[in-house]
Amino acid sequence: MKIISINAGSSSLKFSLFNMDDESVIASGLFERIGIEGSKYTIKFRGEKVSQEIELTNHTDAVKVLLDKLVDLEIIQSLDEIDGVGHRLVHGKDKYSESVLINDEVVSDLDKFKDFAPLHNPANILGINAFREVLPEVPMVGVFDTAFHQTMSPATYLYSVPYSWYQNYGVRKYGFHGTSHRYITKMVAKLLGKEEFRLISCHIGNGGSITAVKDGKCVDTSMGFTPLAGIMMGTRSGDIDPSIIPYVMEQEGKNASEVVDDLNKRSGLFGMSEYSSDMRDILEKCDLQDEKAIIARDKYVRRVVDYIAQYYVLLGGADVIVFTAGVGENSIPVRRQICEELACLGVKIDLDKNNKRGEVVKISTEDSSIQVYVIPTDEELMIARDTLDLINR
Ligand code: ADP
Repeated sequence: MKIISINAGSSSLKFSLFNMDDESVIASGLFERIGIEGSKYTIKFRGEKVSQEIELTNHTDAVKVLLDKLVDLEIIQSLDEIDGVGHRLVHGKDKYSESVLINDEVVSDLDKFKDFAPLHNPANILGINAFREVLPEVPMVGVFDTAFHQTMSPATYLYSVPYSWYQNYGVRKYGFHGTSHRYITKMVAKLLGKEEFRLISCHIGNGGSITAVKDGKCVDTSMGFTPLAGIMMGTRSGDIDPSIIPYVMEQEGKNASEVVDDLNKRSGLFGMSEYSSDMRDILEKCDLQDEKAIIARDKYVRRVVDYIAQYYVLLGGADVIVFTAGVGENSIPVRRQICEELACLGVKIDLDKNNKRGEVVKISTEDSSIQVYVIPTDEELMIARDTLDLINR
């Protein structure tokens, strides 16, 4: 069985083609600058990389080129080999708590919910429609970023604001990165050989969120109504006092969406360091004793530790902490600093084991009160697994 996982952005389309017999990646790649001058694609397969500039006026063009290339490059013999297409979908509001076979209703819901994810939902629809046009007979599955978090209780997902905001406008915590946190939950179940455990899953990349999981279900997560909430990120502020917004609007003569744009794109590591959103750059500057970089790094670590501590209490203790995504999988000093700040909970890591990148590794010592793992996330595989599962039902 071969399944394609698709992540469609407003001007991009990422894909991974899986052989589900052994869950191996047959090919993967990116179509970028769709509808913009200088569009191109890159396809990786069998250790090779093919890249070409080609006019792509819309997502349908990109899908046509993708399928042609898969055959031309002999990655597959014919399009009949593609058994299903899985789409990463961002916002399913409180209607979708699991992945679904895509039909007209799903597409119309994505459109209905577009105010909740104005950049992502319309792009997801473009991706779906492109495949519908080019591969109309092949079943498609939608995997929502928000779905895993639908098990939160009302006391967790409601904000302490007028109830009518929730009732009338859907103002509540939704949470994101659900596919990643679900993948991590499944990996931990496999590693521990059981389904019952208290897990704190730290997805820390350019975007970042932390999720508390009990017995396989999300209990709380750090992102909120939008991905701006929670921990500090590459360019996002995370939680702040909302009164800052009207104050800065007044000071800088900006409107609300301009200030929210500052909070999304010019805050976080980037805003605090006035240098870069990339943790590698920040750590280099820290080595040079750059004061702003040091404060930015320390604040970043502090916010992760705050959430781990909060979820430790919420879960009544923790069995496992997992680090994943760009920073979590790769940044040895950041993991070390976070774990050192958790020493009062009895967390101890082995510095040699922590000295690894991008592989599954248990970095805690045998006498640590909580097992700490690094687990590379794989949202594409999770999407492919859900797709296979639903088309086989
Ligand atoms: P996204 O949220 O865009 O998917 P990623 O999960 O790929 O982001 O994370 C990207 C971030 O990971 C980069 O901005 C960088 O800060 C961080 N990163 C990647 N490799 C390293 C590394 N070796 N050391 C520290 N940070 C790293």
